[in-house]
Amino acid sequence: MSDLNAVSTAYQTLLSAIEQVEPRIAAATRQELTDQRASLKLIASENYASLPVLATMGTWMSDKYAEGTVGRRFYAGCQNVDTVEAVAAEHARELFGAEYAYVQPHSGIDANLTAYWAVLAHEIETPALAEHGVRSVNDLSESDWEVLRKKFGDQRLMGMSLDAGGHLTHGFRPNVSGKMFHQRAYGTDPETQLLDYDAIAEQARDFKPLILVAGYSAYPRRINFAKMREIADEIGAVFMVDMAHFAGLVAGKVFTGDEDPIPHADVIMTTTHKSLRGPRGGMILATEKYAADIDRGCPLVLGGPLGHVMAAKAVALAEARTQEFRDYAHAVVDNARALAEGLKSRGVRLVTDGTDNHIVLMDVRDFNVTGRQAEAALLDAGIVTNRNSVPNDPNGAWYTTGVRLGTPALTSRGFSTSDMDAVADMIAGVLKATKPTTTSKGEPSKAKYELTDDARQHSLNEAERLLDLHPLYPGFEI
Ligand code: PLP
Repeated sequence: MSDLNAVSTAYQTLLSAIEQVEPRIAAATRQELTDQRASLKLIASENYASLPVLATMGTWMSDKYAEGTVGRRFYAGCQNVDTVEAVAAEHARELFGAEYAYVQPHSGIDANLTAYWAVLAHEIETPALAEHGVRSVNDLSESDWEVLRKKFGDQRLMGMSLDAGGHLTHGFRPNVSGKMFHQRAYGTDPETQLLDYDAIAEQARDFKPLILVAGYSAYPRRINFAKMREIADEIGAVFMVDMAHFAGLVAGKVFTGDEDPIPHADVIMTTTHKSLRGPRGGMILATEKYAADIDRGCPLVLGGPLGHVMAAKAVALAEARTQEFRDYAHAVVDNARALAEGLKSRGVRLVTDGTDNHIVLMDVRDFNVTGRQAEAALLDAGIVTNRNSVPNDPNGAWYTTGVRLGTPALTSRGFSTSDMDAVADMIAGVLKATKPTTTSKGEPSKAKYELTDDARQHSLNEAERLLDLHPLYPGFEI
């Protein structure tokens, strides 16, 4: 936005209007900006959308119901939502080089569920309807419908295990995907902690899933999608990639060739708000083969499309098509490497011994603390992270042994590789100065800890220095 003074004045006016209706909401909104500006955000799944993206979400595009999809709506008067959805999809197709894009999903989980149901429709429902000579499930007899319903629930999915960095939506029981599918998880090599494609192929041959999923929330390495495609082809599986975390690195042409999922996968799901730096939301890309089934996502799985968010997706995708964004995406990875090297040189153990994406996963066992204690001590010291399991985690999924770090947000603020080295110094200093307290049974606590005042204060001062060097939305005042 060129005239930041005008933008600031516009937001001030809007916030005053909100204040008159519900002052607590205006205050929380103002405070959130203050807090975001003052925190050293290393949460790998978060970012800062641009002011144009944020502004696009605050409009009357939100007021229109538009169930269905472009040109096939269940409501009248959807011409402007049609424009918004078509423009966003066009940007998505051209940015990623995909045959088809669906920009309606409200979040990553919604995108995954929508995509799974589209694949089930294509692979299970359509052949069943053809077999019975009918066009719709409504035309099936009660007994044929019962058979089909059971068949939906009898399909197999194979995805990455949670403690190796996979996501709940890849067939795990706490998520509906784990209740829909029989699931088997592939992990990583116990020595290298890297994906072992031969082992995955062997498991796939044995399990024969309908769907093979690749993608992660906490794996600090790239995936060879060409190899995963070969595995899927060998067993006749549909190959799906969840690029929620690394979509920005695909958009920014960091992941190319075998590391680019688009030419290799049948269906690709993503969020739009992590490394892609758009509004909170989801998206599905696919080959033409699945287009008609995914287009039925609303109302099959999704509620009415959010016109204002699809509009913001279009703006963010337009931004992601610039050289500036490509430079940003490369800087995200350079910064992650600098952070990893900085931590290793200060004695911090890393899962897979490093990174080649935007994630660094620390294994904090050598400091005799749990992931939970490390996360809390780092927060006391001005560094926002989240605890995470490591492969074969001895502390389980609640206390954990890992802390996940990510560089998309700080890179958006303009942090450089030398700044990341300073951040590594702060993190290592806090870990060294944190000790578990002793429980009444004389054992080390898994939750309580002590962090020395000196280390905490030093880190807080450093955080302030770095944040002042790289202000968030500089010149924007509310
Ligand atoms: N898929 C992956 C790989 C993720 O990491 C996440 C979120 O962390 C999701 C899906 C879910 O995204 P959302 O929170 O937008 O539903």
